Amino acid sequence: MVHLYGAKCSCHSKPSLIVQSRKGGQVSQNCVVTGIPRKITLEQLPEWKCENCGYICEKGQDHYSSYTYKCHQCNMTVKVADLVPFWSEYFEEYGFDAKREY
Ligand SMILES: [Zn+2]
Ligand SMILES: [Zn+2]
Repeated sequence: MVHLYGAKCSCHSKPSLIVQSRKGGQVSQNCVVTGIPRKITLEQLPEWKCENCGYICEKGQDHYSSYTYKCHQCNMTVKVADLVPFWSEYFEEYGFDAKREY
């Protein structure tokens, strides 16, 4: 699991944590303080470097409109939802993260 951050929330001006919002590949960006989810646009997704070769992946969507990162060098596609924690894991980890990062 990796922690990816989207746009800043309007309530705290902190980058929102991207989490899997429900099973099936959808992601949302959640306020790191309140956990309130918001939709995330493709443009708000951070850059992702291929774990294999370091190439900066292209952001896109698959047939189910799940966001994806595609490495053109390896011809591999990863779903953003497969990289980030499920939202309920985030809430369990939240106290720990709050101490460490904020
Ligand atoms: Zn906030
Ligand atoms: Zn690659």
